[in-house]
Amino acid sequence: MSDEQRWKAKYLESLEQQEKLERRWDARLDLLRRGLVRSSLAAEGVDKAVDQCMVELREILRRDDIDAGLSALIPRLEKAVLDSEQRRQERVEQNANAIEGLTQQLLKLELPGEVRKPLKKFSKQIEERAGNPRELPALLGELSRLQQQALSVLGSSESERPGLLQRLFGGRGESGEAPAAPNVPIRADAMAVAETRTEDALPEPAAPLPESMAARSTEMAPVIAAGDEYALPVADEPGYSQVAEHIAASLLSLLGELELPPAHTEQGDQLRERLQSGLNWYELVPVLDDLAVLVLAASNSGQKEFAHYLKQLNERLAAFIGSISETHTGYQESLDSAKAFSDELRQQVSGLQTSVQEATDLESLKRTVDSRLEGLLSTVSAFQEQRDSREQEMVDRLQTLVARVNEMEQEAQSFRDSIEEQRQKALVDPLTGLPNRAAWNERSALEVARWQRYGGELQLAVLDVDLFKRINDNYGHLAGDRVLKIIAQELAKRLRKTDFIARFGGEEFVVLLPATPLEGAEQLLETLRAAIEACPFHFKGERLVITLSGGLTGFTSGDSLEQAFERADQALYQAKGSGRNRIIRAAG
Ligand code: GH3
Ligand code: MG
Ligand code: MG
Repeated sequence: MSDEQRWKAKYLESLEQQEKLERRWDARLDLLRRGLVRSSLAAEGVDKAVDQCMVELREILRRDDIDAGLSALIPRLEKAVLDSEQRRQERVEQNANAIEGLTQQLLKLELPGEVRKPLKKFSKQIEERAGNPRELPALLGELSRLQQQALSVLGSSESERPGLLQRLFGGRGESGEAPAAPNVPIRADAMAVAETRTEDALPEPAAPLPESMAARSTEMAPVIAAGDEYALPVADEPGYSQVAEHIAASLLSLLGELELPPAHTEQGDQLRERLQSGLNWYELVPVLDDLAVLVLAASNSGQKEFAHYLKQLNERLAAFIGSISETHTGYQESLDSAKAFSDELRQQVSGLQTSVQEATDLESLKRTVDSRLEGLLSTVSAFQEQRDSREQEMVDRLQTLVARVNEMEQEAQSFRDSIEEQRQKALVDPLTGLPNRAAWNERSALEVARWQRYGGELQLAVLDVDLFKRINDNYGHLAGDRVLKIIAQELAKRLRKTDFIARFGGEEFVVLLPATPLEGAEQLLETLRAAIEACPFHFKGERLVITLSGGLTGFTSGDSLEQAFERADQALYQAKGSGRNRIIRAAG
């Protein structure tokens, strides 16, 4: 083969390779174009500006001068995508905030633990999950389910609330708003009754009355005229929901300000939780009580006052010791001056002796003796004066000391009195005047120890007012308070001196009956139950029967207070379960 032929062959070969390459490039370009068109179609619908770029992109891909078109489009596309991403982020945040807001609103409602817990858990996950747009439907689904649960719980308790009794007995309108009523107890005189009659044009009851509270006025004597202590006050209560948030926030910040001693921090945390989970009227009072206890604990004011007194006492004692040593110094001084006096006397007398011995004639002896005697006399009278004034000083000092000791004794006594008074106050429930739970703890421990030591019979009962929540709901908490007060009096006045009753909490009372057989205790409790049922309570002239249930148990050998209490409590539970308004004796 010639050179020319070789070159030709080589040329043809490279031409062939070139064509192959070009075909490959064309195929790739085509693939790329198709890929870009598909992705641009897929990317559409995310954002308007991006969509516009995508339409243009597809047009450019159809043209031949792709390079020029793309280099103009790409910077705009980049910006549009960045902007779109930012807007997406903002939307994610808005979504998360909205879901969180809804959840927080639900959490503000009074919810039972089984609904509250998942809601809280859900609330914690929102931020992380809302970041992924695909999670959004699932999140909303869950929220909707939780919301439904919460509302159905509320709905069921709400339906109990305004209640038929309310409509029957009047008091608040159908809307649940309290009418403008004077904040005084309604008297059951003719006027009040007449007024009540006209304003209480009541709708037909839609459901049967709760048995234990039904107005059995038809069977019982008509509205009581005399016992107006049983007339329940009508209060114009503002809807608690209007102020609840504000009150809770104020109390929380107050709680936050307190520097609680370690022994009270747990109590503080519990109170904070109660406040954060939302309050109603009736929980507010115990919450305030607890807060007051914490404030006292935090300020430790009683102890500070006492420490101050001790400091004062100490200073006074120091002053007292000071004056004793002054007195002692005075005494020492008087001893010293007595010695100086006798020294001087001795000197004067020996001077006299010398003068007598040395005297040569009578005249000069007389003069010398005269002057010596004068000196002696003035020494004696000077000493006497000094001694008198010193004695007077000592008498004064001693009197001041006696006065100070008396003063200190009086102060100590008044402190002892005020400490005892405070102790007594701390043991009394201010609403009912009955011993409170702290008093119960003290006394029950004592009675049980006594029973363990001396034997005999000891009975324990737990009493709980029936459906008390409805009394609050239907007549207001002032009426509820009055009922509690009267029930406490009615119970207490039927007990012996050796018996003990305390308000255990809310509408619950505990009774200890030492040296009482079980049958006797049963009779007594039956009397108490019947007495409460017969109390002529009335509200706006309508008779209102209020009852209580009780559980009773006797201490048996080996019993602890807790065991007996638990048995009585179980029996109370049975009494509630079997229709209320009854006393049940614990088995065993
Ligand atoms: P039950 O017959 O099962 O005992 O029903 P109840 O409604 O009595 O029981 P519950 O324990 O549900 O309600 C007791 C209510 O008593 C709730 C609480 O708000 C109210 N309460 C507790 N202490 C006081 C108080 O000092 N004054 C008033 N007015 N209400 C109180
Ligand atoms: Mg009750
Ligand atoms: Mg109760």
